[in-house]
Amino acid sequence: MAIIEVDNLVKRYGDTTAVNGVSFAVEEGEIFGILGPNGAGKTTTVECVEGLRSPDSGTIRVGGLDPRRDEDKLRDLLGVQLQESQLPEKLQVGEAMELFSSFYREPADWRKLIESLHLTDKVGTQFRRLSGGQKQRLSIALALIGNPKLAVLDELTTGLDPQARRDAWDLIEDIRARGVTIVLVTHFMEEAERLCDRLAVIDAGRVVAIDSPAGLVSAVDDRQRIRFRPSAPIDHALLTALPEVTAVERAGSQLVVTGTGDLLLAVTTTLARNKVVAADLRVEQTSLDDAFVALTGRKIDN
Ligand code: ADP
Repeated sequence: MAIIEVDNLVKRYGDTTAVNGVSFAVEEGEIFGILGPNGAGKTTTVECVEGLRSPDSGTIRVGGLDPRRDEDKLRDLLGVQLQESQLPEKLQVGEAMELFSSFYREPADWRKLIESLHLTDKVGTQFRRLSGGQKQRLSIALALIGNPKLAVLDELTTGLDPQARRDAWDLIEDIRARGVTIVLVTHFMEEAERLCDRLAVIDAGRVVAIDSPAGLVSAVDDRQRIRFRPSAPIDHALLTALPEVTAVERAGSQLVVTGTGDLLLAVTTTLARNKVVAADLRVEQTSLDDAFVALTGRKIDN
């Protein structure tokens, strides 16, 4: 069942069309990614979903509600992660949790929430004294305090070091395990690939593809690449004659063989028959990065 339905959303800022006919549906219980480069229209899209902006046209339903008209009811359903700059510097962690609890009719037990986010020893600490990772965890706690069915996390891991980023990923998986549907806005490929059940790739205000990470990759390309150093020269024609092989290239002392199907078996068998050993052999599959380039014609700018 879809918890979010966005149909033909258009949002302009003056002459800039930030979102240009975006449609997607998020199913209950999934982690749905919105992936795209900076300026693609991701934040504008989720801000419309959150009821923070009015679409110029198109329709949005969140749990059957219209985010602009049913703002109060929406707040019980949807947890929104605050941007860092929206919290007063001197507010203590515990005070922030108390304050935000008071916004909801049936808030979660904030002490338990803080504990599960490893912030218990920071209850008396001012916001400005928290590390980047702790601030992010606090903003997640605040997003979850109303016991939402749905949480929108926008660029959650931007600015975090690799360890803090991995911790945030574990945390997102924990939140999903509690039954919360998650919309994750990101421009990190690895994050999208690791966490999302499905994702919408957005570029220049439009959805260019919606699928699982694996589906996006295979829709774009099912080619594989094998790279190795042959122990003796081998006639390329022996390899190009194989039905699995589409190309053979030399890269320094290495051969790069591209193809489909049982490529590895076909190539290694032929090499063995010709008494050639493949040293340093590596199989490379198309990545989500490659898929993104194929879909949008450029690399995402991390
Ligand atoms: P993303 O989240 O993918 O980086 P945004 O939704 O923030 O993209 O921005 C999409 C486009 O809209 C960009 O060209 C951006 O400069 C423009 N934009 C975003 N917010 C505003 C605003 N408040 N006023 C004017 N232009 C904006």
